[in-house]
Amino acid sequence: MNGFLIQNADIADLDRLKTNTRDILIRDGRFEKIAGKIDKKDYPGVTVIDAHNMLALPGFTDSHSHVYQTFIKGPLDNLIITDWLVRLFKFEDAMTDEDYYYATLLSCLSAMRFGTTTINEMGGWEHLDATLQAFEDAGIRTTFGISTTDIPENEVTPIISVEEALKRSEIVYEKTHGRNHGLMKASVAPAGLPAVSGKMAVALKNWANERGLIYHTHLGEGKMETERVAKEYGLNGEAEALQQLGVLDEHTLLAHSIWLSDHELDIIAESKAVPVHCPNTNMKISDGIPKIAQMLQRGIPVAMGCDGEASSGTKDMVREGKAGSYLQKAITLDPTVMDAGTTFKMMTINGAKALGYDDLGEIKEGYQADLVLVNMEDDLSLTDRDHRIGNLLYAGTGHAVDTVFVAGELKVRNKKIQNFDEQYIISKCNDMIHRLNVRTGYVKESD
Ligand SMILES: [Zn+2]
Repeated sequence: MNGFLIQNADIADLDRLKTNTRDILIRDGRFEKIAGKIDKKDYPGVTVIDAHNMLALPGFTDSHSHVYQTFIKGPLDNLIITDWLVRLFKFEDAMTDEDYYYATLLSCLSAMRFGTTTINEMGGWEHLDATLQAFEDAGIRTTFGISTTDIPENEVTPIISVEEALKRSEIVYEKTHGRNHGLMKASVAPAGLPAVSGKMAVALKNWANERGLIYHTHLGEGKMETERVAKEYGLNGEAEALQQLGVLDEHTLLAHSIWLSDHELDIIAESKAVPVHCPNTNMKISDGIPKIAQMLQRGIPVAMGCDGEASSGTKDMVREGKAGSYLQKAITLDPTVMDAGTTFKMMTINGAKALGYDDLGEIKEGYQADLVLVNMEDDLSLTDRDHRIGNLLYAGTGHAVDTVFVAGELKVRNKKIQNFDEQYIISKCNDMIHRLNVRTGYVKESD
């Protein structure tokens, strides 16, 4: 049994916004021992990593994602959500198996490069095998469900019956759950009530409950769509509708959760469902600003997500956390909201728990070894040994991440992805994206 001995890491205490210098022994995929001094001689064969000047954080959990969108970042700029969706579906249609494989791989690797160790993916049914293979090859922890809809929001929405949604969910479950040494889990992921009937929502929730899986959906993202759903149900909003359908509980993740009444915040608090804050998307495609401060006041364990890059532009959880924190401080006129400790918990333990893990999201003996080390002394902007946690969030980006472990496996070292030739992937994906842009008519061959 080999493993890693990380010496002199400054482990973040997110409650006190302080750090504690410790050695960390990782073996068999877990944090085996954390102590002031661990002698290498006691553990023959371990690889020693000197983490002097490194801030140690749990790996980040991106709790709402559509990774394949990394190939469609540019063509969807400056569109409102309804037009954005139509163009998104046009690009999805034009993407091949190979596009899905490389888009998924590219997005997973850039997320991991920035410290993300878990992705909660709402993916597509088409090109499923290529997508799942890319998640497995990237080696990132993944919860995967397919986006399903049975109400057409526009002329290009791919709709299916409830029976077909259940059939597909069964196939996804068989192909995904427990795959890659248990790093992959299945979920159900109905897109959201504007495009999902009550019948489909209830059927998928029951099906997920029978298998102990999470229910991952969008909630209250677009103002107009939310108003339409509220009118159809004769209620005040989508959260009230989900409560009436019986799908809100601690195994439900609610991406965005913007257009909610205060009463609906109470409903969510009582249900223990977990909203996922995706601030970059909310700002870039002008969705609006969720009431995160009021959620946190009610004790709701909000998680964070980078969403798809066609709407957020990034898979960098540090930039996502910073954007979310600043946005809430501005809208509430209260600088104490979403302090660095709260924000990093939203980026780590809150997401891990929401995805059903009780041994992930903290640097603790016996927990799964998903770990981020940030070099705080090779970047001029991060200088201040006494305020490292706040400094990383407010002054840093994911580029400061130096080393990443997923389940005790070394994935990033010295800011470089291990096991892949980054330059080859960049060059290959650049060519593929250009060909996709030409195929869809948004770029000319000669451009
Ligand atoms: Zn989304």
